[in-house]
Amino acid sequence: MSGYELDCVFCHIATGDHPAEILYQDDQVIAFKDINPQAPWHILIIPREHMDSLNDAAAQDEAVLGHMLRIASKVANQVGIAEEGYRVVINTGPRAGQSVFHLHLHLLGGRPLRWPPG
Ligand code: AMP
Ligand code: ZN
Repeated sequence: MSGYELDCVFCHIATGDHPAEILYQDDQVIAFKDINPQAPWHILIIPREHMDSLNDAAAQDEAVLGHMLRIASKVANQVGIAEEGYRVVINTGPRAGQSVFHLHLHLLGGRPLRWPPG
């Protein structure tokens, strides 16, 4: 599903109708601080267009998905964690811990990150 969902908090952040600490935005994506950070740096990168999850990504979404990854590295560099290292995560579906059903990429850094994640 693509577009805008009335009851989606990330759609509201994308339109500016819900507050967020925005670190980067352009015509395709927005990067903002996670409200419940799991690391010193915990940033979410979302497409402006609503997509429930990675399961909904279609061939026409490849450009924005690639853009999200490139912006993750750009924002990591912007906040100063690019050299020491960081992690990008996309939780997909309830069993993987997805709680907000507007596709988002987590950018985590600022502390050592264990592997595998829980
Ligand atoms: P996930 O569990 O992968 O779906 O991640 C959803 C993330 O969104 C969680 O880390 C939440 O803390 C975060 N979150 C939920 N609502 C907001 C909000 N209004 N602003 C910023 N982050 C949020
Ligand atoms: Zn949405």
